[in-house]
Amino acid sequence: AKQAGRNTLCLFDPQMQAGLNKRAALEADLRSGLEQNQFKLFYQIQVDRQRRAIGAEALLRWDHPLRGTVAPAEFIALAEESGLIVALGNFALREACAALANWARRPAMAGLSLAVNISAKQLSQQDFVRQMQSLLRQTGADPRRLKLEITEDVVLGNVENAIAVMRALNKLGVEFAMDDFGTGYSSLAYLQRLPLTQLKIDRSFIAELRNEGNNAAIIRTVLALGDSLNLQIIAEGVETEPQQAYLTDCGCRYFQGYLFGNPETLAQFNARFMG
Ligand code: C2E
Ligand code: CA
Ligand code: CA
Ligand code: CA
Repeated sequence: AKQAGRNTLCLFDPQMQAGLNKRAALEADLRSGLEQNQFKLFYQIQVDRQRRAIGAEALLRWDHPLRGTVAPAEFIALAEESGLIVALGNFALREACAALANWARRPAMAGLSLAVNISAKQLSQQDFVRQMQSLLRQTGADPRRLKLEITEDVVLGNVENAIAVMRALNKLGVEFAMDDFGTGYSSLAYLQRLPLTQLKIDRSFIAELRNEGNNAAIIRTVLALGDSLNLQIIAEGVETEPQQAYLTDCGCRYFQGYLFGNPETLAQFNARFMG
């Protein structure tokens, strides 16, 4: 290890330095990956009780030249911290709107909605509404088919601003879903104030579903809450028939998870609706 100079307060920790270098390298990698078009959107089907498709959620994947396909767990947090999430999120929105416009021309897909994950940072961009407007105009996507998924983080920032932005987008026809519901800073007061149309029950509550356990109580409570606030509830991370059966029994009408389909390329997703 290096010796600290006489007058420098230097606590040199090689491990910490290695961590910082790795982060800096990953951040540079993210930036160039964006410039070089290494990001792709994958699509995961969402269904109703009869397993009819109602839409999809768009999920980012990074086609890294050396590391192969990288999942968001590996890059979203850093993208958030470095601010690159705005550019990355804009890319996702653009791709999603292009897909929606294309589906509108296919009779079997014209009724599908598409959900896109939006970071609180994106929503707080001062020209977000104008950007969405021009994106919708440029792509020809029907705003009524676009759903933006936000997380409870939005209430940690300027809530009034978030509400105003959401309302302005509502006027265009764009709807909002609260993602990962129950895992973050939940305040029922905010939930009531945010102009939402959908709640997504986080998959952690579904993964450990036991009929009489705490998660079952949470699921029943969320469904009752959704009912009284007039919100549509969708369960994510549904992997087994018994999970879907239990959720259905609780009153849940919409589902997403490996039981119905993994996130897949646009070509794979579209192929479900051909022939
Ligand atoms: P999320 O929004 O909760 O997305 C659902 C995640 O659950 C996805 O992981 C999906 O692949 C996974 N999943 C779906 N069905 C199942 C299942 O049945 N079982 C299990 N165990 N997992 C399932 P993914 O694609 O790795 O995305 C992780 C997170 O990254 C997302 O969580 C979302 O928070 C974030 N993310 C992805 N794309 C974007 C984006 O475009 N913008 C932003 N801001 N965040 C994104
Ligand atoms: Ca989501
Ligand atoms: Ca989620
Ligand atoms: Ca989640």
